[in-house]
Amino acid sequence: MFQQNVSLKPFNTFSLEAKAGHFKAFNSVEELKEALNHRKGLELLVLGGGSNILLTKDFNGLVLKNELKGIELVRETEEHYFVEVQAGENWHQFVLTAISNDWAGIENLSLIPGTVGAAPMQNIGAYGVEIEQVFEKLKAVEIATGEVHTFSHADCQFGYRESVFKKELKGKYIITSVTFRLNKEPVFNTSYGAIKDTLDEMGIEELSIKAISDAVIQIRQSKLPNPEEIGNAGSFFKNPTVDKIDYEGLRAEFPGIPGYQQPEQKMKIPAAWLIEQAGWKGKTFGPIGVHKNQPLVLVNYGGGEGAKIKELAFEIQQSVATQFGVELTPEVNII
Ligand SMILES: Cc1cc2nc3c(=O)[nH]c(=O)nc-3n(C[C@H](O)[C@H](O)[C@H](O)COP(=O)(O)OP(=O)(O)OC[C@H]3O[C@@H](n4cnc5c(N)ncnc54)[C@H](O)[C@@H]3O)c2cc1C
Repeated sequence: MFQQNVSLKPFNTFSLEAKAGHFKAFNSVEELKEALNHRKGLELLVLGGGSNILLTKDFNGLVLKNELKGIELVRETEEHYFVEVQAGENWHQFVLTAISNDWAGIENLSLIPGTVGAAPMQNIGAYGVEIEQVFEKLKAVEIATGEVHTFSHADCQFGYRESVFKKELKGKYIITSVTFRLNKEPVFNTSYGAIKDTLDEMGIEELSIKAISDAVIQIRQSKLPNPEEIGNAGSFFKNPTVDKIDYEGLRAEFPGIPGYQQPEQKMKIPAAWLIEQAGWKGKTFGPIGVHKNQPLVLVNYGGGEGAKIKELAFEIQQSVATQFGVELTPEVNII
């Protein structure tokens, strides 16, 4: 039923070596339920593209690798397309499919690695858009019972890189499909980051979802290390949110500190700025380190250990806390 002692190196974008005691790739919900029935108390790890995990040791339980495939237009209204996507589909391939069908709303989320099923877990977001904005519902198998449950937008309790699946329901469900509500009439979102400038540089005269996607791809390729070349899991930490009054105190001490207004008198501070100011940008420690252009990205240049990356992350948290009194929380799931 299960493969034994499988290397997880090809299945995590940090390219870290760790062994799974038991391993099973599933292609259907039936196969998934059967695997759950046979697991006999083994601890579980559900794996999508492995682009948001840090493996710190061998995993002696059962790794279930999601290979559920399929993209289906299930319903249409005057304004929207409702598209159900199986959880094992590659996120970026789905974005490209949406663009080629003129389904608008996720073009700003181009080139984010990983699977569709993991996307609601942390409400993936980039360039001013989060998936909760186009989320309709999802289906998930309850691990304890094998029953399929449907979750509405409200059920998922989305927040900044958060959902109920990272909180109360952590480790209780396996997401099997996600239904998106995509727009027939695009609403172009070019105000964030360098999208406008990049569109100008590309000589784009007529805005389209394809043009925005192309611009986002170009920006991301120039800014972020490609996991196929340097092991990483994207942003290692979330951008911290602090009370406005505390932010004002910080700004008095550190006049250059950037901050973005949030609801309820809060401010979001770019974690990359804090890490860079604390002196970590570009530091290497043998085979691991902090990326030279993107201090929010921890990297494995090859042959590094997950446990050492975890230690490095801890040291970064400590030094940012000491210097700024701000707590950094990992975005990456540490296993
Ligand atoms: C270069 C790079 C850039 C990135 N940029 C961004 C970005 O701009 N914005 C952003 O939000 N994220 C970004 N990420 C993080 C990552 O791409 C997303 O978090 C993505 O959704 C992870 O998908 P995955 O399939 O690889 O998840 P995995 O890493 O396989 O899993 C992540 C977590 O979800 C759980 N999980 C996975 N699938 C399921 C499922 N079907 N049901 C239940 N639990 C599941 C896993 O057990 C694990 O805890 C980036 C990562 C990289 C490497």
